[in-house]
Amino acid sequence: MTPELQERGAQARREHDERLAASGGREGSFGRALQPRTPDFAHGIALYVDDVTVSFDGFKALDDLSLAIGVGELRCIIGPNGAGKTTMMDVITGKTRPDAGHVHFGSNIDLLRLRENEIAQLGIGRKFQKPTVYENLSVFENLELALAGDRRPRASLFAKLSAAQRDRIDAMLAQIHLAAEARRPAGLLSHGQKQWLEIGMLLVQEPTLLLLDEPVAGMTDEETERTAELFLSLEGRHSLVVVEHDMVFIERLAQGRRKVTVLHEGSVLAEGLLAEVQCHPQVVEVYLGR
Ligand code: ADP
Ligand code: MG
Repeated sequence: MTPELQERGAQARREHDERLAASGGREGSFGRALQPRTPDFAHGIALYVDDVTVSFDGFKALDDLSLAIGVGELRCIIGPNGAGKTTMMDVITGKTRPDAGHVHFGSNIDLLRLRENEIAQLGIGRKFQKPTVYENLSVFENLELALAGDRRPRASLFAKLSAAQRDRIDAMLAQIHLAAEARRPAGLLSHGQKQWLEIGMLLVQEPTLLLLDEPVAGMTDEETERTAELFLSLEGRHSLVVVEHDMVFIERLAQGRRKVTVLHEGSVLAEGLLAEVQCHPQVVEVYLGR
């Protein structure tokens, strides 16, 4: 055995032991065999949500919700307040456990068996409505921390970055239009800039699937347009699920050729091209017509 193989084996063993310890023994050798860690995207589907129901004191926030998101797809999700959009993201990311249904990442990974941090580590990132950045750290440092992941939170700030990591952060700064703000404390950014920074912090972790909950709420028209451009540029490299109320933004993202899903009362009311769902009588009644 080469030293490299030996080291890889030892590393795998350590990771396995850590998982075992972290899961209280739940993921023993059996769990490992039953729960492969590499998602299988051979069918072109990144995420399957099947017949998911979530009840809060008898009220169904999600009611037999089913949808599938393609690998590299940019999917817009719209729907009135209370439709269950945020709850759907809570289920996918492991924050809320459904009463019934299945959620798979790729064809093989059962997300309902995993905890929030395990789901994040698999490559599912989430942007909450409010920006959450480290206000006292610079924009660059925020990205630096995100790049290091949550493995060595404080130490990473003092560790020397490799040239490749520095390039990665610089490229991200350009992509999120914050190159000129790199040294400023994040707390001094505008609301829209904070949202971009947080999106950048997710992107440096190379998520396979990114869930964005009302990302342009509170943004200026120009910031909204730049955000649309950013998301469109990410299509193909990441699967994106974008929940938004701003129809100008949705039109810009869908551009007459991407699928839009309308949620209502916890399930899919309509799905198709924006022009199709816009003339769906029930969609007009419950959402667009108001
Ligand atoms: P949306 O994001 O589409 O506006 P939500 O997913 O936030 O909708 O909420 C769906 C429904 O579930 C709403 O009626 C909301 O009040 C209810 N709900 C969400 N979270 C909880 C909770 N933790 N406890 C009780 N009800 C909740
Ligand atoms: Mg919501």
